[in-house]
Amino acid sequence: MSGRTASWWHIEANRVRCDLCPHRCSLPDGSAGPCGVRRSEGGKLIASSHGKVCVRSLDPIEKKPLFHYRPGTLVHSFGTFGCNLDCDNCQNHDLVRARSGGSSITPRDASAEASDMGAHGIAFTFNEPVTWYEFVLDASTEARSLGLYTVLNTNGYIMPEPAKELFRHTDAMNVDIKAFDEDVYRSTCGGSLRPVLDACLLARSMGVHVELTYLLVPGVNDSPDEVSRFSEWVVDSMGEDTPLFFFRFRPFHRLAHLPEQTLERMHEAATIASRAGVRYVYFGGVADIGRDTRCPACSAVVIERKGAESTGKVCFRGGEVSRFCPSVSDVRVNLSEGRCPSCGERIPVVL
Ligand code: SF4
Repeated sequence: MSGRTASWWHIEANRVRCDLCPHRCSLPDGSAGPCGVRRSEGGKLIASSHGKVCVRSLDPIEKKPLFHYRPGTLVHSFGTFGCNLDCDNCQNHDLVRARSGGSSITPRDASAEASDMGAHGIAFTFNEPVTWYEFVLDASTEARSLGLYTVLNTNGYIMPEPAKELFRHTDAMNVDIKAFDEDVYRSTCGGSLRPVLDACLLARSMGVHVELTYLLVPGVNDSPDEVSRFSEWVVDSMGEDTPLFFFRFRPFHRLAHLPEQTLERMHEAATIASRAGVRYVYFGGVADIGRDTRCPACSAVVIERKGAESTGKVCFRGGEVSRFCPSVSDVRVNLSEGRCPSCGERIPVVL
């Protein structure tokens, strides 16, 4: 078995207890947690995906999606197998449930590759970076030493102490909130909501730039009441300037029997969020709608975006997937010293 000794575990009752994510698996020798990649081997926890890259992709940062962090820049994204949630609608289940494949790379070489390719940052995405913890941490450290920014696309399902260590090396993240209901979390992805919200709050308190994604699944998490409660939490806890993406559901994986989300429900959710006070609401999975940044005071377009539709979907058949298509982004930033040029409203964007 390849990999390296993991961090965040201890021995308890002759088993390895993993302390990385809220599952806190107690693992007999030779077994892995539901993430599939952190294994108990010979009295140690082994991070078996360490140094294995299955996907790499040079992308506009808008594809992550991050709209208020370094708009118009390029980020080199890496992914591997492994995820600590099991979502009914997972678009990358072939990748995250794989247990082999990809090619070997060191954290230093991954960062150097990003720099050599002209990227401004490095991102960990496609699978869950929490389960790739040691590699992400080391590569982020190396990337920063080369002047690159660091990005996570994460489900936020991580314990507070390892999160603190990871977020110290993270500049920006998009957190995928699966629902605003504990029962839905349990039944559709095998996790729980509270630790995810706590991770968001922790990241924010540590100065990490946080944006949020919420996939609107018909009849599962898209009721006006749930969207309203979620939006109120965003405003009250994360702040009204936190960018929020509503993604359009398409039938997939174990939810292939559900219909595509309607545009009406997408607009309804956006209206609910705006009324709750979320100032920057975007759409994902809907071509050319809800992608520009408008000044919340006067509605002028202050960042215009064309192309670079956000998708983290990967067609993985083993081996390695490489995608280098940075030219699809067209981003025009029309800010004057961080303010709307029409009315002077401050627009919170890291340039
Ligand atoms: S990271 Fe994996 S092994 Fe560790 S607690 Fe989470 S699911 Fe279990």
